[in-house]
Amino acid sequence: MPQARTHCLTDLPLPQLTELLQGMGQPAFRAKQLYRWVHQKLATDLAQMTDLPRSLLERLGAEYTLAVPAVVRRQQAKDGTVKYLLRLGDGNCIETVRMHYHYGYSVCVSTQVGCAMGCRFCASTQAGRVRDLTPGEIAAEVYTVQRELWAQGAGERVSHVVLMGIGEPLHNYANVLAFLRILTGAEGLNIGMRNVSLSTCGLVPQIDRLAAEGLQLTLSVSLHAPDNATRSAMMPVNDAYPLEQLIPACRRYQDATGRRISFEYAMVRGVNDTPAMAEKLARLVKGMGAHINLIPVNPVDGSPYTASDAANVRRFAARLQALGLNATVRRRLGDDISAACGQLRREAAGQA
Ligand code: SAH
Repeated sequence: MPQARTHCLTDLPLPQLTELLQGMGQPAFRAKQLYRWVHQKLATDLAQMTDLPRSLLERLGAEYTLAVPAVVRRQQAKDGTVKYLLRLGDGNCIETVRMHYHYGYSVCVSTQVGCAMGCRFCASTQAGRVRDLTPGEIAAEVYTVQRELWAQGAGERVSHVVLMGIGEPLHNYANVLAFLRILTGAEGLNIGMRNVSLSTCGLVPQIDRLAAEGLQLTLSVSLHAPDNATRSAMMPVNDAYPLEQLIPACRRYQDATGRRISFEYAMVRGVNDTPAMAEKLARLVKGMGAHINLIPVNPVDGSPYTASDAANVRRFAARLQALGLNATVRRRLGDDISAACGQLRREAAGQA
């Protein structure tokens, strides 16, 4: 199984592909040609690459595959959000979500099969982590959606990508970074780094590492509570990286990249939605200019939490704004098909 994955052409960034083809005695321009077939024209089969020598395609075909997940199920919500259940080459399944905004299409990608972080309100982590996705597997989620949009004929394109599906992106750091380079590269779909958002539950060393990369993406941090007792009860990761480590890391990130962080705050009735919590939150992130994204916690089977009601969410937002914070209430998309935040789950391949 690992062998099949290391032999996937979709995983290879252009420099590696160039090396591979050079090793096969090919001229340098061939790599670019092949790379564009994979990452720009989104070929699903080597046979489509008609301007490459047949002998080369045969040789590649004997050893390499393309990451082309099977769409096991496609569900469309009333608001137009589409959730795909995708089967990977090894039979594992993940979910990908397509959202339609006024500015275009945004794809929410998974970065791992399952998740090891254990947040108590999130369905993605309930069965633990099975494995990391490869760069090509993550890219193939976007490509699946883009191909479908092309097939619909209106020439629409995926303009935004959010790493907010199943998995903790910073727990699969190297593959996620390789994916971002492929996604934003000029020879690929060329999606602007500023149109990419990456969400993390707060892995401090990796936040520092990401800061050093100096990327222009938006970092979202899943905060959800303004004190350690409340946050640790919701998110075990807080025991490893409590707020007195996380918040300074967020400040360092902003200083290093010049980009404002966005904090996600899932509102749970009676847990983190009181006026006192709003005040603690304001003190915690004071002076950061960060954006606070409020969302009533979505229902998840087996979760002990109930959402704050809409009026309370609005009151909480107003209180934060009065305290000088930039807080908005996030629109909930796709909740009628369990495609909303925290509702994605790994499903057994046989189940669908
Ligand atoms: N592992 C990353 C990426 C997941 S992104 C992270 O934790 O940030 C998904 C976002 O949805 C995160 O902010 C996550 O905390 C939030 N989320 C998870 N379950 C949720 C739920 N039931 N209701 C609302 N938001 C939820």
